[in-house]
Amino acid sequence: MSMIEKRKRERINLVLNTIKAHPGASKTEIKTFSGLSMEVVLQYIDYLTEEGLICCADAKTGGAKVGRRADRYLLNPAGGKFLGIKFTARRVSGVVIDFCGNVLATYESEKETRSIAPQELLDRLYRCIDRLAETFPPDTLTAIGLAAPGFVDSGTGELVRYNNLQSDVPLRLKAEVEKKYGIPVFVDGTTRAKAIAYHLNAGKELENFVYIFIGTGCSAAYVHKNNLYRGANNFDGELGHIPVFGRDEVCSCGKRGCLETVVGNRHIIREMQRRGAEGCATVDDFVAAAEAGDPIAAAVMEEAAKCAAYAIAAVVTLNDPGQVVLCGDYTATQIFRAMFEKWFSAFCLKDLCDRTTFQYIRNQKSDNAVDAALLCYYNLYYNKNLV
Ligand SMILES: [Zn+2]
Repeated sequence: MSMIEKRKRERINLVLNTIKAHPGASKTEIKTFSGLSMEVVLQYIDYLTEEGLICCADAKTGGAKVGRRADRYLLNPAGGKFLGIKFTARRVSGVVIDFCGNVLATYESEKETRSIAPQELLDRLYRCIDRLAETFPPDTLTAIGLAAPGFVDSGTGELVRYNNLQSDVPLRLKAEVEKKYGIPVFVDGTTRAKAIAYHLNAGKELENFVYIFIGTGCSAAYVHKNNLYRGANNFDGELGHIPVFGRDEVCSCGKRGCLETVVGNRHIIREMQRRGAEGCATVDDFVAAAEAGDPIAAAVMEEAAKCAAYAIAAVVTLNDPGQVVLCGDYTATQIFRAMFEKWFSAFCLKDLCDRTTFQYIRNQKSDNAVDAALLCYYNLYYNKNLV
């Protein structure tokens, strides 16, 4: 793409994303919010309307406004369909969303064993796509987004390393799925997909934040001035694998005593059982016990809050992200928040602590495939602001 074409594409995307961030915006508002001239705004409103990516709000609501250019604009739900898949070795969740992010269809696999061969993993992804394609054939889809576990190279679309994958060589996810279905495929890590989706939904109001996800593992994605930071080797954000002194449990990465072995859901349950709470089998059991004042659960929660606060205070001290978005299961509870914030203020510089806000999000499993689908919108229409 030439520089002129690139600049044009960036402006088209700017108009599109201004409308996305301000549904129902008028031409004058789009001009003001985007900083583009009225001439350029009008030109690209026409282009985006012809492409079917936007529509006028008046037409949708049956208003009387008739004319070449309507007053107010919205994204057009029919502008595209994105298929998203979030997967692990155990489970595959799929979804089809329209251009506005509305869910049109979902797929959920059976729970499988933990370890998987590369071809079997691909076959499970194909099964998910084929099932969704019964209603939405590939030629009606705009693109496919895959949110993958393990170490992912989003540039090449390869799953570089995943402990539950029985392979020593990278799995060429993007290439394989594109070859089979003939439409663009975008691959990224689960936490990055969640951070991108969070940013897309929050719009320009949230230019800086660090997104931290605590599930089975723990990882982070750092967004600065609308840019998603990617390390020199595309391996940044592996927060769960920094060591916690005094801990010795074997981690999924092969090392011992990583943060993941203190805060990860699976390890939390294991620790509860080790300390005698044999009936604790799920994170919900753990939360219920903690909220009922169970001293074992309180102690395990406190340890997790303390270690998470230490690691996140280090992230905040280094990067000053302004906002920390913490997504997880037990981490969204009031009891965890109180413990976490106590330890965070103990570990973090006061001036930074005072300037840092926290958002706590309960991990909704149904959102994960939608986050994967939004990788398509981000890659195709978001100017790669988050690169
Ligand atoms: Zn580790």
